[in-house]
Amino acid sequence: ASHDAVIDARGICYSYGAHRAVNSVDLQVQRGEIFALLGTNGAGKTTTLEILQGFRAKEDGELKVFGTDPRQHPGTVRARTGVVLQEAGFFGEISVTATVKLWKSLSSRTDDVDRVLHTVGLDHRASHTVTSLSGGERRRLDLALAIWGNPELIILDEPTTGLDPESRRTLWSVISDLRGAGTTVVLTTHYLEEAEALADRVAIMHGGEIAVTGTLSEVLASRPSRVTVELDD
Ligand code: ATP
Repeated sequence: ASHDAVIDARGICYSYGAHRAVNSVDLQVQRGEIFALLGTNGAGKTTTLEILQGFRAKEDGELKVFGTDPRQHPGTVRARTGVVLQEAGFFGEISVTATVKLWKSLSSRTDDVDRVLHTVGLDHRASHTVTSLSGGERRRLDLALAIWGNPELIILDEPTTGLDPESRRTLWSVISDLRGAGTTVVLTTHYLEEAEALADRVAIMHGGEIAVTGTLSEVLASRPSRVTVELDD
């Protein structure tokens, strides 16, 4: 394993009852890179992210996040990781600022409300209620909560699914700015263009397995027929 690996997973497996959802997955994510897990519905992406965060116990394999097993040292991983769940959707008649302040009171990390809202481009919506935000703005609010306290690792489960192209591009620019600041990002997506816009490296997941890993151009060049089939949603 590289010295700079933030995530080092080898042979990770997970089953729901008799259904093997994650099968012998190897994943290495280096510090400061954006890594995209690409795949269609049911490929096993969300389950894999949940294992990386220690929310689910792997059945088999070796896993190190920041050099430790997230099940043995959950606090270590949580303190250094920001997460956006799939369609987390904070709803409410409270303002954007109040939502971030609520988060502030729950978090062990310190940060500045104005900084995080500025980073995600929501300054002008600060006093608006969450229910009045557009879909894209809500995702940006989710991202504001994930970046609270400048975590070293940010995990995003389908950060732009269901958004219009313009909102997606806005989120892409916020996410690529995170890399500029040295943050490591792992995200899942159904969209090839999202991986193309953001990712330093990608893994194509299908049927619980990683079919191929590399830069997007390496992946597309190495096994074109298989990749095409797997991305054809
Ligand atoms: P999506 O893009 O739809 O989020 P995914 O790639 O994230 O899909 P997972 O959500 O990890 O895939 O699901 C992988 C497999 O495990 C699927 O076949 C799914 O039906 C199954 N699965 C997921 N969650 C559960 C659960 N709680 N109980 C039983 N089976 C589950």
